[in-house]
Amino acid sequence: MYYIILRTPPDIYNSEYTAHLIEHLELAVQADISEYFNIQQYDGTSYSYYSTYTIDTTDREKVNIFIEKLILPIQSTYLTREKKRIREELADPDYSKKIVEAVGKIWYGETYRYARPTRSSLTEIQSYHSQYYTRENISVYTKSNIITTDIYDPGLNTISRGEFRVGHNRNIFLYTDLSSISICVFFLLEKLFDSYLDYLDVLSGKYWARYTVQWEHPEKVWISYKTSDRDDLASIPDDFIRTFVIDTLENSEKDSENNIPEHDLVSLLHFWSALSKTVKTTIIWNIDSYYQQIRTHMLSK
Ligand SMILES: [Zn+2]
Repeated sequence: MYYIILRTPPDIYNSEYTAHLIEHLELAVQADISEYFNIQQYDGTSYSYYSTYTIDTTDREKVNIFIEKLILPIQSTYLTREKKRIREELADPDYSKKIVEAVGKIWYGETYRYARPTRSSLTEIQSYHSQYYTRENISVYTKSNIITTDIYDPGLNTISRGEFRVGHNRNIFLYTDLSSISICVFFLLEKLFDSYLDYLDVLSGKYWARYTVQWEHPEKVWISYKTSDRDDLASIPDDFIRTFVIDTLENSEKDSENNIPEHDLVSLLHFWSALSKTVKTTIIWNIDSYYQQIRTHMLSK
């Protein structure tokens, strides 16, 4: 598996829509049937300020050919069709997308929009593409060429909090400076929070009713929860955390050779290296102390 990462910041409409559209156009399928099956090895995702492509291959030459294709100027051929597909894709924005937009406004300003189509024209798309789809802006990773580091600051920097409303729900988000450790810790905390909320849902006969949202922006990493979930999230029992640690360690052992976890991609984008397995294992073992640190901020007024 190969991973391509590009920095693709918000466009002139203060939205990730142009980057999303380009990602669709790069992977657009013609009528050719064998091409349709071939393209299944390629996948793309656009986040608020970066895009990734994955290629399910061990053939580096294939990756090089794809990169050549990525930097070719954008054509209008499939524009109307892909705009329509994105409209379909975004027709029903879920709660987590609304949260990403609400928090994004704090860093990108009130005009920020996430997961909504804009008026982006062909010329605007082409100019955005020529600015960011350059050789210098493309990083390629595979499991074997990742540089890992054992150097990390074990503590989280100052945690701050913010509050916002989405519909009828009041939400809190806790955030800290982006570092390879904070990315890894917040990623794990989201897993811990979501599995605990899911556990409570399962016991009360609900289906995937409650969850938290974790995301990062170029400077900050954050996690948000509904204020109505706070008391449950602030009282996760010790034995639940212990079992979570054992399960997470077992799963990281089983993790397939080819997979680069999402938090490593963020880390690679920002720091050109990912935390080593030793450091990650230490963080998992110590997740309770990070949880206690976050919990203090959840409970403070
Ligand atoms: Zn899409």
